[in-house]
Amino acid sequence: MDAATALRELVLDVPDHPEPGIVFKDITPLLAHPEGFAAVVEALAAAGRDEAGAVVVDAVVGMEARGFILAAPVALALGVGLVPVRKVGRLPRETHEISYALEYGEATLEIHRDGVAPGQRVLLVDDVLATGGTVAATRELVERCGGVVTGLAVLMELGFLPGRETAGDLTVTALTTV
Ligand code: IMP
Repeated sequence: MDAATALRELVLDVPDHPEPGIVFKDITPLLAHPEGFAAVVEALAAAGRDEAGAVVVDAVVGMEARGFILAAPVALALGVGLVPVRKVGRLPRETHEISYALEYGEATLEIHRDGVAPGQRVLLVDDVLATGGTVAATRELVERCGGVVTGLAVLMELGFLPGRETAGDLTVTALTTV
């Protein structure tokens, strides 16, 4: 199964979750399908390689919570470390912290201050690019550590929201646009 087929067949639309008017993309059937999951992980990992296949990032950053599920196997596929960006209060040591607006609600994210070393090249991985708020906030956190975000890889981009504009000059790899 290829990544496009996996995304078409194994991601479900859930209307009115978590709020009326939101159509939530449920990736759990995709995660439960070993071939589909492997295909999307490999496609996401390609965003951390150059055309010759060489790995061009030093770390993968995953955003809580579905980002973790995807970022972990992507990091292993690339042979680099995984750095979690977490909701406020979960990381045990000194952090950088940022608050931002979500498609629904508001959030505060944190990264360990030593999570990314100065000069490290970082690939961000998440499931969905919606308004782009999460990505912009995560990029800011990585930059406060001194890291350089080289790109974002997501399963899905919601084309009716301004995620790409918010992402600015960041290279966005979206396996599908819905
Ligand atoms: P953004 O910050 O508005 O771009 O929203 C992206 C974040 O919200 C990601 O971390 C996603 O996991 C989550 N998200 C937003 N919309 C959806 C959705 O429809 N399905 C799953 N996750 C979503």
